[in-house]
Amino acid sequence: MDRRAFLGTAAGGMGMLSLAAAARGAGFDPLAGIEPVRASPDRLFRVTVCLRPFRAPGPRIEVEQVGRKRVVHNYGHGGSGWSLSWGSAELAVPLALADGVKDVAVIGAGAVGMAAALTAQRAGATVTIYAKEQFPYVRSARATGTWSPDSRIAMKNAVDPGFGDRWEGMARASFSQFQSLLGLPGDPVEWTDRYMLSDTPMGEGQRRAKAEPMVERPDDFLHLESRLHDITPRSVELAPGTHPFRPTYARRNSSLTFNIADLSRRLTNDFLIAGGKIVPMTFNAPSDVTRLPQKSIINCTGYGARSLWRDESIVPVRGQIAWLIPQPGLTFGVFYGSLSMLARRDGIVVQEVGSDEWFGYGDANEEPDRAAAEASVRQLAQFWA
Ligand SMILES: Cc1cc2nc3c(=O)[nH]c(=O)nc-3n(C[C@H](O)[C@H](O)[C@H](O)COP(=O)(O)OP(=O)(O)OC[C@H]3O[C@@H](n4cnc5c(N)ncnc54)[C@H](O)[C@@H]3O)c2cc1C
Repeated sequence: MDRRAFLGTAAGGMGMLSLAAAARGAGFDPLAGIEPVRASPDRLFRVTVCLRPFRAPGPRIEVEQVGRKRVVHNYGHGGSGWSLSWGSAELAVPLALADGVKDVAVIGAGAVGMAAALTAQRAGATVTIYAKEQFPYVRSARATGTWSPDSRIAMKNAVDPGFGDRWEGMARASFSQFQSLLGLPGDPVEWTDRYMLSDTPMGEGQRRAKAEPMVERPDDFLHLESRLHDITPRSVELAPGTHPFRPTYARRNSSLTFNIADLSRRLTNDFLIAGGKIVPMTFNAPSDVTRLPQKSIINCTGYGARSLWRDESIVPVRGQIAWLIPQPGLTFGVFYGSLSMLARRDGIVVQEVGSDEWFGYGDANEEPDRAAAEASVRQLAQFWA
């Protein structure tokens, strides 16, 4: 029976809503767990700001000699630091362990530093982390917590010809590492559904946005995620009336969520259990590394590299998160207009993301804006029919 003939039958005429109900009756509920978020400002428990360490040519992963020390830089991961942490460690660690080095220092204990330290340990090295801040005080603790390997990772015209392949290698290596953190107690990493909502049919909104006059930009952000189509789940259109959201059109796909409270604790514990040491220390100039006992140092200082290494190629991209009290069982995400919500086990993350990736670009203000956070939460309340 073809599609048109099917729609002519009683089953086809039932309408999508009753089909969804029938599916539920049959024991399968495609929308299970999609309850409204209790989106009211009185449930806000904190407002945080994080700066994405963006570099137009992409993350800096290369060796620099400082006196007799070998420094392997591993910073500047933009909006993709969690997602690419393991893959960039796989590039940086062999550089640090070259020539038989067995004792390494890692500067920084954020997402990138922890992954580099664990990767070096797994390669047989003794590792000491030196850092000004540790979790939960590092900037990585204030991220959305989603798989976003090409979010503000580089500019189209600033990357070298090999960047796409290197990025793909990093993304695939990270993706594979995150699979090993699934199904663990505390759910440090899990697959959850995301709903993209729109008042117009999917695709039309984007076409219209393209027709609008563009602001003149020097370059544009590079997008590479299509290179991963074989390992990332496909998205599914949900017909109007078959979902609980107020906007008419919805598209669902599934992505990895990082429950950062649990994930960061697990990374830290794994590192300490394997014999790693964490030493609180602030570096004020590159020459400070010459005082470390280790000859090989992996520099994972994130946005901190801008002042420490005087690297002005790092541009801050500000992002603010309004945190709502988590609701048991609620683990999904929604995008609508310029607002995004991700219900994690450690908090419901609500974020104004602007109309494009230039939102927050060049803004180093880390002061939370409570009024804006409350406005985002009130907007979220309107997502449900
Ligand atoms: C709002 C927002 C949401 C985001 N969401 C996501 C997401 O969902 N998924 C994703 O993959 N990425 C996301 N990102 C990007 C991600 O958060 C960053 O790329 C990542 O946190 C960078 O990690 P890092 O370890 O390099 O830096 P940091 O977390 O900043 O860690 C740097 C470490 O270096 C130390 N350090 C710095 N300077 C010095 C110094 N002078 N001396 C001693 N120690 C020093 C710090 O104390 C810290 O320990 C988001 C970013 C923002 C702003």
